[in-house]
Amino acid sequence: MTIYDLHAHSDFSDGVLPPRAVVARAKLCGVDVLALTDHDSVAGLDAACDAAREHDLTLIPGVEISVTWEKYLVHILGLCVDRTNATLLHGLARLQAIREQRAQQMAQRLEKHGMPDALAGAFRHAPNGLVTRRHFALYMVELGIAPTLPKIFERYLRPSKPGYVATQWVALQEAVSWINAAGGVAVVAHPQRYDMSATTRRRLMEQFSAHGGAGIEVVCGDSAPDVVHSSAALAERFGLLASVGSDFHDPASRWTGLGQLTALPPNVQPIWSHARFRG
Ligand code: AMP
Ligand code: MN
Ligand code: MN
Ligand code: MN
Repeated sequence: MTIYDLHAHSDFSDGVLPPRAVVARAKLCGVDVLALTDHDSVAGLDAACDAAREHDLTLIPGVEISVTWEKYLVHILGLCVDRTNATLLHGLARLQAIREQRAQQMAQRLEKHGMPDALAGAFRHAPNGLVTRRHFALYMVELGIAPTLPKIFERYLRPSKPGYVATQWVALQEAVSWINAAGGVAVVAHPQRYDMSATTRRRLMEQFSAHGGAGIEVVCGDSAPDVVHSSAALAERFGLLASVGSDFHDPASRWTGLGQLTALPPNVQPIWSHARFRG
């Protein structure tokens, strides 16, 4: 049986390990096919591909794109993308600029709340220069503001909290079109994690499909059976292929074992049945 893990982060976004170490760890964990899907960046893929050749593992070049859809932050995975595609790279450059600007605004707010040098502090945790809320949270744990990342998010970094900056990312249609332009397969990441009603979620899936999206992440990390069931129902209803991924960020986290995923339910078609996975 082939073990797939199609959602993982390196230190080119908010993962802890460099791409080579993610690949090595995936191999140790028994993964046969791994997608590296950093937030808004494909810069870690060269190193990941080299390492995958050395470890005899199949590396799927991927990305996780930040989208603003209606009032929600939604993540769209691009799998099997051509990492040299100009349309995709141009789009990701736009997102990286949005991130930089947001980081400056976040730092200003956090400094007002007594966190000195927040921008420099966050950048220190982001060796490749792409800053996420997670990097701010790591700095704040270091300052002793709270003991864990979830507590920091809860108190400071979630919507309506003092360090939160409402951000206009890119449109759903743009993200899907860049992924398709790069020859990739677009997948809605962790569909049950968005704080939206079931009706709104169905509207998201309908529009995603109409824009040319192909898949939905049915198994994500520690997904409970009811979560898998709900996502599988969406896959069936909207004719989407089913993906699986750990959303690995950090080997120290107890949730995110690479490749430690439950099997897809029998009523869905796996994303790896897509032609792009065979070529
Ligand atoms: P950003 O893309 O900059 O908004 O950062 C979002 C990232 O923060 C996500 O990809 C997660 O890795 C991380 N994150 C979000 N919520 C939490 C949480 N409650 N606890 C820990 N990490 C979180
Ligand atoms: Mn992340
Ligand atoms: Mn995500
Ligand atoms: Mn992710």
